[in-house]
Amino acid sequence: MKRSLRDLPGDEIAGRRALVRVDYNVPIDGDRVTDAMRIEASGPTIRLLLERDVRPVLASHVGRPAGAPDPGLSLAPVADELERRLGVRVHFVAPADSAEAVGSSRSLGGEAVLLLENTRFLPGERSNDDELARRLARLGDFFVNDAFGTLHRAHASTTGVARHLRPAVAGLLVERELKALGRLREEDLDKPFVVALGGAKIADKIPLLAAFLERADAVLVGGAMANTFLAARGHAMGRSLVEEEALGRARELDGRADGRLRLPEDLTVTPDPEAEPPETRNVRADRVPSGTAAVDIGERARRSFAREVEGARTLFWNGPMGWFERPPFDEGTAAVARAAAVATETGGFTVVGGGDSAAAVRAAGLADRISHVSTGGGAALAFLAGRTLPGLEALDDA
Ligand code: ADP
Ligand code: MG
Repeated sequence: MKRSLRDLPGDEIAGRRALVRVDYNVPIDGDRVTDAMRIEASGPTIRLLLERDVRPVLASHVGRPAGAPDPGLSLAPVADELERRLGVRVHFVAPADSAEAVGSSRSLGGEAVLLLENTRFLPGERSNDDELARRLARLGDFFVNDAFGTLHRAHASTTGVARHLRPAVAGLLVERELKALGRLREEDLDKPFVVALGGAKIADKIPLLAAFLERADAVLVGGAMANTFLAARGHAMGRSLVEEEALGRARELDGRADGRLRLPEDLTVTPDPEAEPPETRNVRADRVPSGTAAVDIGERARRSFAREVEGARTLFWNGPMGWFERPPFDEGTAAVARAAAVATETGGFTVVGGGDSAAAVRAAGLADRISHVSTGGGAALAFLAGRTLPGLEALDDA
């Protein structure tokens, strides 16, 4: 267990500056934030700090700039969104490791926070350079890591600064995420335990799938991930997205899954996904016509997956069941989302993790009907696969 912000005595932190690593890696279109879930999720920690008379200095990355300023990946739009969402004054300063930033952190007061420019503009962030960590550490008197989505990275602003700032504690979002996801790692969780996996990036998800095959009653696989498993069983997949390099591992896992790995019995295919509107057909999963691509789980699979999900007493879902950004290819994903809401309402504990799957649940208006929608994709997967999270390791023990 790690020390939490909640454990710090008020008189020890009042009047001081907290360097807070947040996860504002959010989608930005021009100068507008298009999904503010992660900004909202940072609210409880920021409010707690302000209530305790602490001055918050917020650090985050967004996107993958190459260690140099990139105007398209500035956090400036986040400063505006943060001000609107949290109703606090937000000062924005660039670059994050400048003397000006240190000056701004010292003059901060009242209901105001300081937001630093994208930490990945700085060479040394991703390589966890100790000189950079030292400069960033001058922006706070103690450290709070509340960037759940970045806990699986050892960067200067996540683990490096913790070498130079004490106390170094977990924020409220990190605590909430670990509590919810931790329930999925417990031996005595409520059964049936159902896992639904989809999306692409199968190589990232295979360790998780292997871990869950040992513990879950059923692992439902949809999305492009299912295409790879079907191809591994020897079925021709036409023009579907298949991850060739994962075929061997998929075949091996399928071989020892003992019937717990469920693939869709049918699929929605289209000859031309770009057509408006696209022509679609429902076909058996082992009968994908050569000129078509599978873009969603089929009608029977939607029903059978939904039945399993509704009956789950513990559910973990990561990855959309199809190319959900393009209706009508979102129907399989929507069916699973509705079934997850039913599972919650009948007393099940339901967790959705993964950027796109979380977005799909929110797009369906069902986020409030899921026990926990995680703000972290890769970090949630790493934690559930049993890997240690460097960002967490670096914090003080409770
Ligand atoms: P998450 O972010 O939830 O972890 P991933 O990033 O692994 O999910 O995958 C999401 C992406 O996979 C989405 O862009 C979705 O359109 C795509 N996808 C899912 N199924 C298919 C499919 N059958 N064909 C093409 N793309 C798919
Ligand atoms: Mg994704």
